[in-house]
Amino acid sequence: MRIDVVSIFPEYLAPLELSLIGKARQDGLLQLNVHNLRDFTTDRHRTVDDTPYGGGAGMVMKPEPWAQALAAVAAARPEAASADTEAPEAAAKPVLIVPSPAGERFTQATAQELAEEEQLVFACGRYEGIDERVMEWAADHFTVRPMSLGDYVLNGGEVAVLAMVEAIGRLLPGVVGNPDSLVEESHSDGLLEYPVYTKPSSWRDRDVPAVLLSGNHGKIAQWRRHEQYRRTAERRPDLLAEFDAGKLPRADRTAFADLGYDVVDGRLRRRPDAGAGRN
Ligand code: SAM
Repeated sequence: MRIDVVSIFPEYLAPLELSLIGKARQDGLLQLNVHNLRDFTTDRHRTVDDTPYGGGAGMVMKPEPWAQALAAVAAARPEAASADTEAPEAAAKPVLIVPSPAGERFTQATAQELAEEEQLVFACGRYEGIDERVMEWAADHFTVRPMSLGDYVLNGGEVAVLAMVEAIGRLLPGVVGNPDSLVEESHSDGLLEYPVYTKPSSWRDRDVPAVLLSGNHGKIAQWRRHEQYRRTAERRPDLLAEFDAGKLPRADRTAFADLGYDVVDGRLRRRPDAGAGRN
């Protein structure tokens, strides 16, 4: 995968040289290029912002440096060179992700979807954001996706890009050593992960749950599933509304019943008489 990031603070992306993503770059699994938006300005002060039309607080990012930067990125992509009439599919538009608190929510499902792409481009906004016409213009060259990390406001898109690139990058084949560890994680199956423990088995008067020391793999798997249900019901009951409960074995339905949920038409329904909880 090739990733291009455009930012006025390229140094902000330095952590992507570390750990698993840094190693993936060294190993050639991920090609990541960071571009300074100011390199695409033409004035002496390398200006990237101006006052907002209509008034109001803050500054808005000017459109032309963005168009120059994004056009350069689009032209540099390997497919662009080979885009001819014989292979029109090779010229498929890359995805341009524009981090924004006003974008669609970035989730594990989004990360999985984007990990299938050949090229991703990220446009890091600052100030009050980027002149809206950039997104309209960019739609001719990219599939534009404004995307939010969560319902809060950051100072710039760089932190969002760090999170998104890490979430997407670790799904690329070969980046995480043991691919099994991607399967049982929180959100991979729509639930939160079960609690995990390591040695010693007894620590400060707290014991690891006995079933984990039993060596009984069937029982361990069931305990973990039921812990996923308990934890998700307690912390993120909103996730249970989407959970496909149609094929749950009886023991799992019982576990959900103990948590106050019945299975109705393959979906979990909270019983009205279930005890008051966070859900
Ligand atoms: N005025 C904008 C609004 O209210 O939607 C917020 C601008 S914010 C101060 C500056 C930049 O930070 C945004 O352009 C975006 O790139 C980034 N940003 C802020 N919050 C974000 C979030 N929750 N997810 C992704 N990017 C975010």
